[in-house]
Amino acid sequence: MRPNFKPRLVNGPFGDPAVYLEFLRERRAFLFDLGDLRPLTNRELLKISHVFVSHTHVDHFIGFDHLLRISLGRQKQIVLFGPNGIIDNVEGKLRGYTWNLVENYVESLSIKVYQVEEKEIEVAKFSCRERFKRQHLDAVSKSDNILLDEPSLTVCCTFVNHLIPVLAFSFEEKYHINVKKNELEKRNWPPGPWLAELKQAIYEDRPDDWIIQVRSPRTPAQVLAEVPLGELRHTLVMYTAGQKISYVTDMLFEPESVQRVIELVSKSNLLYIEACFLEEDREIASEKYHLTAAQAGYIAGKAKVQNFKLFHFSPKYKGREIELIEEARDAYKKSLEK
Ligand SMILES: [Zn+2]
Repeated sequence: MRPNFKPRLVNGPFGDPAVYLEFLRERRAFLFDLGDLRPLTNRELLKISHVFVSHTHVDHFIGFDHLLRISLGRQKQIVLFGPNGIIDNVEGKLRGYTWNLVENYVESLSIKVYQVEEKEIEVAKFSCRERFKRQHLDAVSKSDNILLDEPSLTVCCTFVNHLIPVLAFSFEEKYHINVKKNELEKRNWPPGPWLAELKQAIYEDRPDDWIIQVRSPRTPAQVLAEVPLGELRHTLVMYTAGQKISYVTDMLFEPESVQRVIELVSKSNLLYIEACFLEEDREIASEKYHLTAAQAGYIAGKAKVQNFKLFHFSPKYKGREIELIEEARDAYKKSLEK
């Protein structure tokens, strides 16, 4: 199965938190947290369509300026989700600069911010052409933990306790569509962008008589065949479970938060989870509202995740990364077996 997404930590485990989730067959990417983004290329930054911010402590939010700098002057909308206060935080950042002359830009950046609260989501928009003046949009009611629901994917969230409310996120592909190669060959159809159109039509649940045009990338103007979607749906493709990737950071190990996180990240293929401290510093971890590596491993095991990656190590452990990783792995194995 060829995956549709490629996630990676932007910085090393001691660096600022940020996970870049690249869409391999679409020109876009999601970003979880806005720590230092300098390791990303401009091309990668310009692919970012949605940003999910856990909270706005400086190590999770300083990359906002860099993303803004690179995206300015482009015809583009960035959608940003964050916890209580995020609209003020974005406005504060934007008000830190002078915005005359921007009316003349041909291309205009806009930033749409969703502020996730317990019962509703407040929405505001900042457009470059209007000098990034805050524009209030109607709030959205929040009946469950879904933030984004597209035909092929969802992003869900839950709150954890870091003395302030912090968001944990889970990204899930609804199902994965695989094209049967032998069936393509049998029909003598070349692979090409038409397969992406086919998958899109399936995700969008188009009717069976919806026509798909088969074309070769070499002669895109020429239609090789016109086939109803219903036929392809049953003969040409196979369905497998989609990928699930979760992101959890800056939380106190307390029963309510732990339970909510376990439900959110349950059975993820990959979980990114903070591990600021070693178990020997458990007290410091709880004073600072952070996890130890053993606590991170425990959560990963309880949630039956397939794989997990630790990040947000305290600088005091430079040179002791292995200890953090091993401590988490042991706890993971123990809680998985239980
Ligand atoms: Zn942090």
